[in-house]
Amino acid sequence: MLKLVERMLAGELPALARLITLVEREAPQTPEVMKEIHPYLGKAHVVGVTGPPGGGKSTLVDRLTQVARGQGLSVGIIAVDPTSPFSGGAVLGDRIRMQRHYLDPGVFIRSMATRGSRGGLPRGVRGVIKLLDAFGKDLILVETVGVGQTELDIVETADTVVVVLVPEAGDAVQTLKAGLMEIASIFVVNKADLPGADRLALEIESMLRLSPADFEWRPPVVITQALNDIGVEEVYRAVEEHRQHLQASGELERRRLQQRREELWQRVEQRLQERLRWLLWAGGLASLTEKVASGELDPYSAAEMIEEKLSRSWPGGG
Ligand code: GDP
Repeated sequence: MLKLVERMLAGELPALARLITLVEREAPQTPEVMKEIHPYLGKAHVVGVTGPPGGGKSTLVDRLTQVARGQGLSVGIIAVDPTSPFSGGAVLGDRIRMQRHYLDPGVFIRSMATRGSRGGLPRGVRGVIKLLDAFGKDLILVETVGVGQTELDIVETADTVVVVLVPEAGDAVQTLKAGLMEIASIFVVNKADLPGADRLALEIESMLRLSPADFEWRPPVVITQALNDIGVEEVYRAVEEHRQHLQASGELERRRLQQRREELWQRVEQRLQERLRWLLWAGGLASLTEKVASGELDPYSAAEMIEEKLSRSWPGGG
């Protein structure tokens, strides 16, 4: 076993931090690390906290962490930051709200940058979650801005998704239509000290009644003032209830199976793609690409020619 993995499993924080950096950068050791931590996975509850920027996600994550620590749970926080061009290094602005937890050895905080300008969780995020899980974190909070691809990714990655909305966010119904509705396990209407929170909560409730319900779980709508620590325990309880629901209904196990299948196929695709590029290059087929690029050859004919050549050089191929 790699020394670093051994030390991480023994509870050494610097080892965890270094492994996260390796996995995040998809360093060559990554597959080895993933193989070795496999037996230690599956205990953590992964909670995504998402919603429009400025809604109070960081504040809520900070307060939820406090509640979890009070219950004796250890916590990992991954803050996915769309504004930061730096991977893994950004501790800016709203991260300051979590500062007090930096001194707590039971809380591990990591910032990661989103993939490209259109959002999407960074490729390495699932690996980082696994490391935190293997390290023994009970609760892993993944904070993301709910836009575009990111929210699709988060629903595949987290067990429970908390969507944070605020009354000031203009037309909430539009926000919900934009896709946050389907992904929420729990709604939080934050900034209830501002006018309009009750109305927004009612709007969400009525949309939930209209939506083709998952009869087993109707997402609760919790009204909070994260800044003033009001309603946070209720959010925590809702998260806990959702976890129990996932376990009792067998949904958790179903999701885990699906995630593992998905992960295998992603890995296979990634490896085949790498191999394919190499074969194209080594097989002298790169010139076909240029012919397509210049318009001399159409992409369909070129693809057929490439496939034919490859299947002759591929063992077992046609
Ligand atoms: P994020 O961008 O969603 O992570 O939001 P932040 O947690 O950074 O919060 C954005 C701003 O809203 C900050 O200035 C917070 O202090 C403030 N905020 C958070 N919760 C509340 C609340 O319950 N009421 C009010 N009025 N402001 C809040």
